[in-house]
Amino acid sequence: MTHGTAPLVVVSGPSGVGKSTVVARALELDPRIWLSVSATTRAPRAGEQDGREYFFVSDEEFDRLVSNDGLLEWAAFAGHRYGTPSAPVRDHRESGAPVLLEIEVQGARQVRQRVPGALLVFLAPPSWEILEGRLTGRGTESTEAVQRRLAAAAEELAAQGEFDVVLVNADVDECARSLLAWASDPSPADGGGTPASE
Ligand code: ADP
Ligand code: 5GP
Repeated sequence: MTHGTAPLVVVSGPSGVGKSTVVARALELDPRIWLSVSATTRAPRAGEQDGREYFFVSDEEFDRLVSNDGLLEWAAFAGHRYGTPSAPVRDHRESGAPVLLEIEVQGARQVRQRVPGALLVFLAPPSWEILEGRLTGRGTESTEAVQRRLAAAAEELAAQGEFDVVLVNADVDECARSLLAWASDPSPADGGGTPASE
């Protein structure tokens, strides 16, 4: 299922590494890019709005999206389900807008299978201690939820070799600019960044 012509770029990496922060900066720098809004069964955090950060749905609604083949990919993560509605991704790509997905690793693998031309970017932390510090410092999860996310993070970090590009998020602006450079020339074979294998 290859969609349209505009690039599809997946940004993945452990919870707390800074995906939302870097993606938000990239969107400020290049407003042509469209960020997909996922569906999730988790509850909104303070300040999150339905339809903006996520579509917050019930378990039954999520089941329906899955059975109607409405999701490009989906995964269970830290006790909740998350998925990318496929129609808006297709529509934006067909209208010429580069599309970004900010999703976890299992979902990135599904995109790899279903959209062969997609570029998979992994955001890595400068160190494990810095990742722990960012996740706890964000203050949005309970201690138990932070522990679940750190357990998932260990597995996710081990998967970075499966990605086309690895960007270390030391500096938000620099990382966002590297992401945009890849998004504007997303061919893994001839791009100008640091391939994951090097
Ligand atoms: P994710 O979306 O990957 O879960 P967030 O974007 O919510 O992560 O970032 C987690 C925390 O780390 C936030 O408090 C954010 O402000 C902070 N952060 C993100 N990138 C950096 C960075 N390069 N340097 C310092 N702090 C950062
Ligand atoms: P959070 O609860 O912190 O918003 O997100 C938890 C994790 O789910 C993050 O790693 C985030 O990137 C990921 N995520 C968000 N939306 C999706 C999605 O549509 N699909 C998948 N597979 N992961 C998602």
